[in-house]
Amino acid sequence: MISIQLKPKKEESLQRFHPWVFSGAIQRIEGKPAEGDLVEVLDNNRNFLAIGHYQIGSIAVRVVSFENIPVDNDFWNRKIQQAYSLRKSLGLVVPHQNNTYRLVHGEGDSLPGLIVDVYDDTAVMQAHSVGMHEIRQALAEAIVKNVPEVRNVYYKSETTLPFNAPITPEDGYLIGKETADLSALENGLTFHVDWLRGQKTGFFVDQRENRALLERYSSGRSVLNMFCYTGGFSVYALRGGAGLVHSVDSSTKAVELTDKNVQANFPNDTRHKSFDEDAFKYLNSLHLRDQQYDLIILDPPAFAKHREAIRNALKGYKRLNAKAFEQIAPGGILFTFSCSQVITKEQFRLAVFSAAAESKRNVRILHQLSQPADHPINIYHPEGEYLKGLVLWVE
Ligand code: SAH
Repeated sequence: MISIQLKPKKEESLQRFHPWVFSGAIQRIEGKPAEGDLVEVLDNNRNFLAIGHYQIGSIAVRVVSFENIPVDNDFWNRKIQQAYSLRKSLGLVVPHQNNTYRLVHGEGDSLPGLIVDVYDDTAVMQAHSVGMHEIRQALAEAIVKNVPEVRNVYYKSETTLPFNAPITPEDGYLIGKETADLSALENGLTFHVDWLRGQKTGFFVDQRENRALLERYSSGRSVLNMFCYTGGFSVYALRGGAGLVHSVDSSTKAVELTDKNVQANFPNDTRHKSFDEDAFKYLNSLHLRDQQYDLIILDPPAFAKHREAIRNALKGYKRLNAKAFEQIAPGGILFTFSCSQVITKEQFRLAVFSAAAESKRNVRILHQLSQPADHPINIYHPEGEYLKGLVLWVE
């Protein structure tokens, strides 16, 4: 295995189990690793620190082991086994009730560069590093071996791998094939998941618990689910007894998915309507529709994908939330989220609070939300905490 020796004092973050080595910390690379190769990281005195996948870019190594042990198929197998046993102990694998969950959450499961979501008997796997791409077949086999419910593994990495890497990833089944009657169940509700054409792995598993909380607030309320995508929040609101539910998304495909999911759970329910429209346009035209909502969900896509975009993103969050505060009925409840990793909890709160102050509404925090336990945060890699939400009561 090729060794990478760090500059003096650059071992400290690895000794605290931070799983990345930045290229600036490297003193010497012995040999010529290819992107994706396993490399051994040594301190300046040549003591062992970690083993990881080499990559070209500002993050040079993503650590898979802090122990000097063989990183072979048995190793990957044990990692998947651990990930599954955690999900089982979280109560996420319940026949006829819940078979939709995140099996592997990158650094949170000490598998940097790997995401796996499970839907019924199919796992959808996404590699974000060439190292994980190279071992995709071994990982797929480890998944089928350790997760008794899973028979098919679909690989979806054409858009997630570094674009300049010397590989041509192809999406497709690594094991098994498309299940005709796949039924993804989340808390007893059915969802169509389209990983072939959908965003990410096809479904936003990370909102499961926040949707369940919304259900408890829905009774008798008129609900607006803005940025609905597959209609997750809408279906929970209907089950919670909402008086009406309106779902809005600017993507026609998303609106179709929402309608399909509502139909699967509440066939011909006249309480639900969906709108293929831009969020701001819709919120600005509410007075024309003579419609006011007393429960609004704002779950937009990440407004900032990198640091340079933070300022504009915060303006965007403020503008969007201000619209909701302007429109929401007295005694209304706002579920508002940000999934931008580069925006901190504090920055997001500040953007929302200044929107509230501007609208001159009296607002109270009922809940502060985050990502669920199947998206664990490695305490040595706080960057993994990305989903932030607030539930607010608007007087
Ligand atoms: N709340 C969803 C996830 C939302 S993902 C869930 O629980 O699954 C973000 C969604 O916002 C996408 O479906 C995207 O099509 C939609 N979107 C992006 N820009 C938009 C805009 N300007 N107006 C309305 N929808 C938009």
